[in-house]
Amino acid sequence: MESELKGLLEKNNNTKRCAHCDKELKENYFKVLENFLQVKFYTDPEGEDNMFCSEECVLKSLFVEEMTFGKEIGFKKGAD
Ligand SMILES: [Zn+2]
Repeated sequence: MESELKGLLEKNNNTKRCAHCDKELKENYFKVLENFLQVKFYTDPEGEDNMFCSEECVLKSLFVEEMTFGKEIGFKKGAD
């Protein structure tokens, strides 16, 4: 009984998922290696918040979006 439960937990632990879209990760994944982000931003001890199925998911998780000069949103320069 106890070993059965352990086996089940291990099985679940072995299933890694993309931190952004939750897709199951098979043989490889993308990981952000930038030191500051690894230390200050990705805090999961197993590193499961820094596993992504694609570069696109990395970018989306960091809210990376294409901008057009002069049309930036969410940021306004001080009046001058
Ligand atoms: Zn993904």
